[in-house]
Amino acid sequence: MTQEELKKLEKEVREMISRLTAEIADLEESTAPISPENSIGRISRMDAINNKSVIEASMRHSKRKLSKLRVSLTKIHKPGFGTCVNCKNLINPKRLMLMPQSDKCVKCA
Ligand SMILES: [Zn+2]
Repeated sequence: MTQEELKKLEKEVREMISRLTAEIADLEESTAPISPENSIGRISRMDAINNKSVIEASMRHSKRKLSKLRVSLTKIHKPGFGTCVNCKNLINPKRLMLMPQSDKCVKCA
């Protein structure tokens, strides 16, 4: 990858990180504990619990992605970045733009 491409990628990653951080903060707000004496009734309460687990699942997913992005940000300027951990070939820069956290080329992934 050229320096130009690396800079662009770093910018992308930083943007993705700030988007994800905001998303997680939003999700955290919407998973406030559901009180048992809630007046919304049993059915609505079941709905609320279902929603909560859906939100928690997507929050876990976002957090995992966020930590991968943070790791890739520390790797961008290190030698070996963009090289497949499996076959040692260069990973397509386009792939890295879409998924900076990927450490394998398309063939090995
Ligand atoms: Zn590979």
